[in-house]
Amino acid sequence: MERLKKILKYFFRDELTIRHKLVNVILGSALLVQIPSTIVTIFVGTSAGGIVIQFLMAAIIAFVLYLVNKFPESKVPAILITTITNIFLFPVMYFMCGGYATGIVQWMLFGAIFTWLLVDIKWAVVISVINFVILNGCLRIENHYPQYVEHLTNRNDEITDTAGAFIFVTIIFGLIFKYQTYAYEKQARILKESDEELRKLNEELEEANVRLASASEAKTTFLANMSHEIRTPINAVLGMDEMIIRECQDKQILEYANDIDSAGHQLLSLVNDILDFSKIESGKMELHPVEFELFSIMNDCYNMIFMRAKRKELEFIIENDPDIPAFLYGDEVRIRQIIMNLLTNAVKYTKDGQVKLRFDHEKIDDDNINLIISVKDTGIGISEENQKYLFDSFKRIDEKNNRNIEGTGLGLTITKKFTDMMGGTITVDSVLYEGSTFTVTIPQKIADKGTVGKFDERFKRRGEGGGHSEKAEKEAEKREKFTAPYARILVVDDVKMNLNVVRLLLKNTEIQIDLAASGDECLKYTLMKSYDLILMDHMMPIMDGIEALHRIREQAEGLNADTPVVALTANALVGAQEMYLEEGFVSYLSKPVKSADLEECILRHLPEDKIVRESNG
Ligand code: ADP
Repeated sequence: MERLKKILKYFFRDELTIRHKLVNVILGSALLVQIPSTIVTIFVGTSAGGIVIQFLMAAIIAFVLYLVNKFPESKVPAILITTITNIFLFPVMYFMCGGYATGIVQWMLFGAIFTWLLVDIKWAVVISVINFVILNGCLRIENHYPQYVEHLTNRNDEITDTAGAFIFVTIIFGLIFKYQTYAYEKQARILKESDEELRKLNEELEEANVRLASASEAKTTFLANMSHEIRTPINAVLGMDEMIIRECQDKQILEYANDIDSAGHQLLSLVNDILDFSKIESGKMELHPVEFELFSIMNDCYNMIFMRAKRKELEFIIENDPDIPAFLYGDEVRIRQIIMNLLTNAVKYTKDGQVKLRFDHEKIDDDNINLIISVKDTGIGISEENQKYLFDSFKRIDEKNNRNIEGTGLGLTITKKFTDMMGGTITVDSVLYEGSTFTVTIPQKIADKGTVGKFDERFKRRGEGGGHSEKAEKEAEKREKFTAPYARILVVDDVKMNLNVVRLLLKNTEIQIDLAASGDECLKYTLMKSYDLILMDHMMPIMDGIEALHRIREQAEGLNADTPVVALTANALVGAQEMYLEEGFVSYLSKPVKSADLEECILRHLPEDKIVRESNG
């Protein structure tokens, strides 16, 4: 019994298809029938040839059953068994086992039907046509030449054979159809169950998705808040530090202050990276293409990296193809960020030797080029294995060797995302312990047909090793020195130190400054005095800057209904500027505020008659 169960389990194992299991049913039951049928033929006086044929048939069925289960994927055994039985065995049996007076025609019918169950429709049609020809042939040959058929010895045996065939064929088909119905019912049940499971799974997935989305939203909000919270104290640190740099004469203290300034800016760029990353992750990052001058990027990169490279005694070179168009149209800020990320890495991960920044171009059409920027260093290099993970978020490679080099593992992720957003590519070519070359290719529109020329020649023309970029110099030139002793401004911020930063940064302008530490206090001042300008923080407890602005505009007895109000805030999220302008602010300054930006903004909004301009002499 156990053995029988095992055999049945093998022939009906789960991995078999229904059609395959059906083949097993047909062949198994045919074998079960063929064995007693062969025995019957011995007793009903079939000729020796007929008996051999019956044995042969049992053997063939057993062999095909074996083949079918040995090679379950193959269609060949089904084709083989249908062809052999229909075209060879049954016609031979017809002539050797008694002709149409016996059960052979029923067997032929059986053969024809099981062919339809086992093989593809095309093959079944072919076999059926052949079957028709064969049966016709057999019947007509027997009709005209009865001597070719080995008839059974008496009519009784013929009746037994016919009845035997009837019952066997009926049982086999019965089994087949029963099994088929059973198999389909089982399949339908499984399908229904898995449908139910799938529905449940889907529901769970949807729930998980909602949870995930809210977690991701929470993460973005957290990062944005963190960035805001960190910016506020950096504003104080950098602002106060700038006052030291401006006012202190002691060389040693100046050096300390410069270190604070550089560390503060490093911290700021870290916060910016985290903010950028969270914007990218939440899909809120957008590009802002503008017309820009390529030389100015080269120049600024030189000025920003030159000192860092020099401190590590590295040579820093900029090379370029002089025929690149001088003015391009693209997201200048992000292109600078990409180059700066690659350059800071190159300096960070190089102990000695050289860092080279190269600009090339490739013409796409008359109006567009591919700008090719490559940064090559002679640093520690990256193994082939690690190059795969280079652009993964938070992934720092070779942590063991790099643990003394600061970094978050975000720089390259952001660089890659920006490059992707611009429709460009970034590749790396690196040999461990020899150095790396990062190459970024970004399509850019040509804004002006002029060419950029050789960087080093242009740079030299402006004075050897000039500490400032052309743009910075121009800006400095443009930045007028001014005082405004009769102007009065109000600064509103809940952080006292930030109030002081603005006050101190504007000390030289001699502007009269009032400081308010909350929205409420601000409203008291605006009832008492008329201001030329108000600088307003946004995030303040109880009453925020936006509400304070609206209240100023609505104050019945107020003296500042038309005073321009500038948002001075640590909110650096995407769309912040647009939001503030929409709310009625005239300008937006983000913290940490640079004194140059602050002065420029004030100059723009103060009434002309209150400004005393100094010539730059
Ligand atoms: P990190 O803040 O750690 O520098 P990045 O995303 O900029 O993060 O770089 C990821 C990792 O790739 C780094 O930790 C470093 O192992 C490797 N890497 C990046 N640039 C270079 C380079 N020029 N030479 C060698 N390794 C580099």
